[in-house]
Amino acid sequence: MELGRRDLLVSAAALVAGSTGIARAATGRKLGYAIVGLGNYGLGRIIPQLRDCEHSRLVAVVTGDATKGARVAAEHGLAPGSVYSYADFDRIRDNPAIDIVYVCLPNSQHADFVIRAARAGKHVMCEKPMAVSVAECEAMIAACKKANRKLMIGYRIHFEAYNREAIRLARSGAVGKIRYVQSEHGFVQRDPEAWRLKKALSGGGSLMDMGIYSLQAARYMTGEEPIAVTARESTNRKDPRFREVEDMIEWTLEFPSGAMAMCQSMYSANQNRVLTMGETGRIELEPATRYDGQKMWTGKDGREDMVTPPPTRWKNQFVGQLDHLPDCIASGREPIVSGEEGLRDMRIVEAIYRSAREGRTIRLGGRA
Ligand code: NAD
Repeated sequence: MELGRRDLLVSAAALVAGSTGIARAATGRKLGYAIVGLGNYGLGRIIPQLRDCEHSRLVAVVTGDATKGARVAAEHGLAPGSVYSYADFDRIRDNPAIDIVYVCLPNSQHADFVIRAARAGKHVMCEKPMAVSVAECEAMIAACKKANRKLMIGYRIHFEAYNREAIRLARSGAVGKIRYVQSEHGFVQRDPEAWRLKKALSGGGSLMDMGIYSLQAARYMTGEEPIAVTARESTNRKDPRFREVEDMIEWTLEFPSGAMAMCQSMYSANQNRVLTMGETGRIELEPATRYDGQKMWTGKDGREDMVTPPPTRWKNQFVGQLDHLPDCIASGREPIVSGEEGLRDMRIVEAIYRSAREGRTIRLGGRA
């Protein structure tokens, strides 16, 4: 899981004869990202972080707004011909500076652009949720396998210092055997016209957005895969924001060890919290998964202790995430948050929706 100059040099040296991308990493050139979708996340959050990356840099953008594309290209000194429209996206095949395509589009467009990127011979980073169905996730994984390209999901929180320390504490037995996780994520979605509220674009409501963090936390804090899910939804369908997708949904996961997780997401309150209870203590994170400002404490024997995690070797979670894929490309390793990880979540997401719809517990792992 560790990224570093030494790892990259060692692995890259062993792989000079590999694909062109690997050969370039071995020569020390940073791998080139093309960012697809210049919205709040792609433009506002990801592009600025590329300046701080050790193994990555911005080389192209893909946008529906040519003026915005030209402005970003000028601001970042991109080479001529580095701005693509969605329609001419497939021409990225002819641009050897692009090693990795990062898809930052509305959820229902992830599958199409990931598959086209793989067919163009590029490695792919895809935002969460990976797609809007299990079938799409499977097709994305198959396309990347066929093209022999790597696929990573933008689960930035796996590179965030507090969450990494929380996972380490849980696995180390610091609070005893893990029995229970409670995870709640939400924000107030005010704009009724937002794509997140249009099912054809989002695939679903709060579960497809912040709910992914609640689900991920339940899985990484227990370190287990759930065997059953029971869900309930509560949405005011008269609210113009929620005609197509859910507002609040809550679900219980049962794990093989007997541990349970109570998870929740909503679009009508701000919350961001993960509580993990073991037999001898608890680990609390609040805020847990924000871009920054995380706080963590442990509770044990009647006292609470604030926890400051050891710093990561990368500047922040975004930089760690962005540099992880070039590291994996150079070393031949699978990303710690691969396409399979996104698929696992999507299988559970489908079961959560099905449980809420049918009013019954859904067994996971093939059993319905
Ligand atoms: P946004 O609305 O700010 O940007 C979406 C981009 O897609 C815009 O550039 C828009 O022009 C473009 N687009 C193309 N076709 C579109 C269409 N039919 N409708 C609407 N926009 C269209 O959204 P965002 O917040 O940047 O989210 C993009 C993706 O990133 C989503 O999958 C979201 O879940 C994910 N995201 C992840 C994080 C994270 O912390 N990992 C945070 C925010 C968003």
